[in-house]
Amino acid sequence: MVSGAWALIRLSDSIVEVNKNGIYIENLKGFLSYDSEIEENAASDRPCTPPLQHIAFRQLHFTYDGAKTASLQDITLEVHKNEKIALVGHNGAGKSTLIKLMMRLYDPTKGEIVLNGRNIKAFDLASYRSLFGTVFQDFKIFSMTIAENVLMREVENDADRQLVIESLKKSKVYDKVAALPNGIDTILTKEFDDEGVVLSGGEYQKIAIARMFARPAEILILDEPTSALDPIAEYEIFESMLEACKDKAVVIISHRMSSAMLADRIYYMEDGMIREAGSHQELMQSKGKYAELFLKQAEKYVDQEELSEAVKPYEVQQ
Ligand code: ADP
Repeated sequence: MVSGAWALIRLSDSIVEVNKNGIYIENLKGFLSYDSEIEENAASDRPCTPPLQHIAFRQLHFTYDGAKTASLQDITLEVHKNEKIALVGHNGAGKSTLIKLMMRLYDPTKGEIVLNGRNIKAFDLASYRSLFGTVFQDFKIFSMTIAENVLMREVENDADRQLVIESLKKSKVYDKVAALPNGIDTILTKEFDDEGVVLSGGEYQKIAIARMFARPAEILILDEPTSALDPIAEYEIFESMLEACKDKAVVIISHRMSSAMLADRIYYMEDGMIREAGSHQELMQSKGKYAELFLKQAEKYVDQEELSEAVKPYEVQQ
């Protein structure tokens, strides 16, 4: 029987069906290489050394090659160390494109991105990109051990094993992994999944999320990282992520307002532009598009009585 979890993972073409004799390294390379238009030698060789203070977009415009309309227009935003921002908006609003530019997969058509006040083009590309840690919606799980899936390399020593355990604890899946006969050394193959020692889709996703905790990054990009989880599990993980990332800059892309509202600042995007920016409270009070989207979603999840309690603080006094 094909479990729901397995179907979910195969849908996103995530499990690579190879045995373990080192072949996965090639697949790892594929995973780590970005689809980028920037040529390595187009960048400076100045290493990009943390710590990050802030990263900012200044009046940035971007049009994909051959596209008639701009995917980003006049984008001005910033994220400081210790800050969490959320990008929200309907499909096609420009959220992923914005992230691609932030990670320098493309360069802006106009305007600039500055890191600690310096144009990011001034930095060596590889060291600039190493500032980022990402958890994408179509997370990948590889046919290798859970520990290797977390580290994205081989386990070399006890310190590595400890790092894996800590990371799995932070993403709240360690208890489940520890209960498997081979623990963190369990190899994630299709056979393993079919044998009935099944991890759920959410648990696979938590393993992928643990990757983020295991890798030191200055800026974390969370692209709908918890989409396979139910709202309560999502909220728990989010809290734990925010706690673990206190001293980092975090950019959240989420369709779920319940996670976006945890950010310090929310940018509501539409047609490649930032239409509204502010904290959850500010945006609710201004009763614009963000508030409309928030309330529309809230109606789906919350019963009407709870909803009216939840929106009370934002109602304008007559
Ligand atoms: P979101 O992440 O908010 O759903 P995207 O950033 O993916 O939005 O898309 C913004 C706009 O850019 C859309 O109009 C989309 O069709 C267009 N777009 C995205 N990727 C490409 C691409 N590789 N080439 C041309 N247009 C693209």
